[in-house]
Amino acid sequence: MLEMKKLKKSFGDIEVLRDIDLRLEKGKVLVIVGPSGSGKTTLLRCINLLETPTEGEMTVGDLQLTFSPGTKLRKIDILELRQRTGMVFQSYNLFPHRTAVENVMEGLITVKKADKHESRSLAMEMLRKVGLEEKAEAYPYQLSGGQQQRVGIARAIAMDPDLLLFDEPTSALDPELVGEVLNVMKALAAEGRTMVVVTHEMKFAADVADTVVFMDNGRIVERGTPDEVFRQSANERTKAFLSRVS
Ligand code: ADP
Repeated sequence: MLEMKKLKKSFGDIEVLRDIDLRLEKGKVLVIVGPSGSGKTTLLRCINLLETPTEGEMTVGDLQLTFSPGTKLRKIDILELRQRTGMVFQSYNLFPHRTAVENVMEGLITVKKADKHESRSLAMEMLRKVGLEEKAEAYPYQLSGGQQQRVGIARAIAMDPDLLLFDEPTSALDPELVGEVLNVMKALAAEGRTMVVVTHEMKFAADVADTVVFMDNGRIVERGTPDEVFRQSANERTKAFLSRVS
């Protein structure tokens, strides 16, 4: 479903991703952990081309892209990729003047060109999935952070993407609201969705990840099952990071 080969990303002179090699099979969950500034978010944003990699190759489904400095991306490739991926942001990014159900409908109408009636009924189904059917007519300011984030997830899955991307989805939430969002994510993983998750929630990573990748300074320094990375790591940087966060 996803493959990266020698992917690099620089901002000016700063190399933020260095030779990233990655593979994710359909139906699997990849969790990316690592210290702040190590490149996790940039890696995730490269997957849906919110950032353009500087060099390397990336394959999402049957769409294969090669990057080199100065190459301009084709609009059609960007559109294709955005249709195949659904992103859940740290700060929810809901439209403040639209209700929960209207937020979920938005992409269906504008991107998928679905009609209004059909979009509403699909959006309601998605809200039911995240346990928010009764909040369909509420505006974002009337919802808790955890509920807003669940609307964000409903919006992402409504588009039926091949790949779901989560960028620290719980880090803006009060601690007591983290669990409800993680539970929705766990249910999606159990349904067999292909997911890439950047998070600091180590217990979630241990429970849900098929593969954990540990990043430091723009590189993947370790990868394996949660058990291999969290319990058996011999890597000093991984161990130092884990002792700080857990
Ligand atoms: P993480 O998600 O692991 O905290 P990021 O991917 O957000 O790391 O950032 C990695 C590095 O890239 C940081 O040093 C950050 O300052 C830098 N960076 C991220 N986005 C930009 C940008 N748009 N312009 C310049 N530097 C950036």
